[in-house]
Amino acid sequence: MLIKVLDIGLANMIAAGEVVERPASVVKELVENAIDAGATSITVEIKAGGVSFIKVMDNGSGIHPDDAPTAFLRHATSKISDPSDLDHIMTLGFRGEALASIAAVSKVELLTKMPGMQVGYKVALEAGNVVWSGEWGCPEGTAIFVRDLFYNTPARMKFLKKDYTEAGYIEEMLRRLSFAHAEVSFRLISDQKEKLFTAGDFELKNTAYSIYGREVASALLGIDYKEGNISVSGLVGIPSLARKNRSMQTCFVNGRYVVNRTMTAAIEEAYKGEMTTGHYPVAIIKLSVDPTTVDVNVHPAKLEVKFAFEQEVYKAVYWACKNAIKAASIPTLRSDTAERIYTPPVILSQAPPQRQGIYENKNLLKEETQLPPLTSHPISGEEVQKPMESRPLPMQPVQKPLRNTLEDQQVIRTTLPVEEIGDFVVSGQVFGTYIIVEQDNHMILIDQHAAHERILFEQLMQMHENKEIYPQPLLVPSVIALSPVEFAFARENKEFFDQLGFEIDAFGNNDIAVRSVPIAIEPQRIKDIIQEIINNVMKNTQKNWSVKVEAALHTVACRGAVKGNKPLGPVQMQNLAKKILSGEWKMVCPHGRPVSVALEKSFIEKLFKRT
Ligand code: ADP
Ligand code: MG
Repeated sequence: MLIKVLDIGLANMIAAGEVVERPASVVKELVENAIDAGATSITVEIKAGGVSFIKVMDNGSGIHPDDAPTAFLRHATSKISDPSDLDHIMTLGFRGEALASIAAVSKVELLTKMPGMQVGYKVALEAGNVVWSGEWGCPEGTAIFVRDLFYNTPARMKFLKKDYTEAGYIEEMLRRLSFAHAEVSFRLISDQKEKLFTAGDFELKNTAYSIYGREVASALLGIDYKEGNISVSGLVGIPSLARKNRSMQTCFVNGRYVVNRTMTAAIEEAYKGEMTTGHYPVAIIKLSVDPTTVDVNVHPAKLEVKFAFEQEVYKAVYWACKNAIKAASIPTLRSDTAERIYTPPVILSQAPPQRQGIYENKNLLKEETQLPPLTSHPISGEEVQKPMESRPLPMQPVQKPLRNTLEDQQVIRTTLPVEEIGDFVVSGQVFGTYIIVEQDNHMILIDQHAAHERILFEQLMQMHENKEIYPQPLLVPSVIALSPVEFAFARENKEFFDQLGFEIDAFGNNDIAVRSVPIAIEPQRIKDIIQEIINNVMKNTQKNWSVKVEAALHTVACRGAVKGNKPLGPVQMQNLAKKILSGEWKMVCPHGRPVSVALEKSFIEKLFKRT
């Protein structure tokens, strides 16, 4: 017999806790038992948030028929037998309370078969009492069915939240277990819908991909650090992946999910200077310590831990994160470093030739190279100490179209008829990202990506409101490989994609064929767009579909828009500038960044000491 009842003294050493608080705690205990049993594949199925039905099926060691009924006795465990075992607990469970507690407040069936056994075994219990047991045909491993949770304790029922909230708790908890156990393939099916699936291929990054989606997964850095008996592994986000709360920080100690201030503080300290206040890094931290130096028994829900060597843990986590961030960071010059690296401005040695609108001189780059050479010209010491970067720039988002006055038109250097190009001149592009426009007494910089995104978004929203997003058929359908969760979602939400102008069809195992798109999109971007839409909708708990449509159209606009760092032709720049300056479009991009900024001519003149 592997399972025996703990002697009462030892049982009392383990602080008793509320094991079954809500459906998520039932699922947690059952899944942890499956992990302890060496399962590599665990499927959880729930109905009505787990209140009416929970099934946890694993391919683990199974339970011997002689042990099966014993497993439901209080303090029955196969995981510890001696007080000294408490010092080096390596399993998730050890109290021997879970099955007994769950069976006491529900109707439970256990089906189990040890590998190599001829036949399986079944035990059925109601309110903690065995009502049936005997041989039963079933696959190797263990399946536990829990029905009508809290049916005999209506007071407990009252504390439960709405079904979908309870289902959400279960999903959250399985996400953590998936992170803790990248070697196990997890699947969650809630009311017939697949909510989570991880490959169980030992790759934490693939788990992160299944759970957080491509965009987050691609911005995660691996960490690996060892100092004495402490080792730290996991993933941390690049600083720009910052979140507004700590919901994407997950810490584990020896495979157990924990909430621990020392670890959180160390992570955040490592990002100091990289992140503005109120932002938190994304992190999955797995700490491995000598089990005799950590007390996991501080809290009955086992979320808190106490370290014997707190300072060492802090340092190890700090350096694990810091090293990863440092290795990945590209040196950038921030405005606060501008002063230190300030170099005197250069001035033109002679007046440049009269420049004209780029429509005359088709190749702007060639034109630039024809400019006379720049000569460095140090200016007075007083000026050097007061770099112009530190002065406030009178920049302002363009609020309304700036109309030309007659006299201004004489200043605008263009030979094209005014009506053809509008009342502005596109003078070029800088950094492959900003279009320079001269209009009235202003030099306007337009962020080409933000501008295009805004325009596409407004057009898509307008078409959507008029119910006329016309799908544009692709000559060759685009076949896209999705993750199982994404695929399930796409198949179930074909109509949603139809609404957006994407015609999609299931196409083999986890592949979909995209037959049409809402706007001209580069074929290689279609996959990213579809995946981002799916992941956003799945993550978004908002029930309101119009919010989801808007978010999806936003994705289409953002991903479909011209990127920064891309030289544009004169006609493209002209079209973008015209739309933006016509005032038809709001002056911030859908992300809330400005689309354009204007510099007053008088400000520029001041820079050159002309006034
Ligand atoms: P604990 O996990 O603390 O030992 P439980 O009440 O959760 O206590 O489980 C009691 C015992 O039942 C475990 O020690 C284990 O031997 C056995 N058991 C429970 N679930 C499984 C499972 N899925 N596969 C194999 N054995 C299991
Ligand atoms: Mg257990």
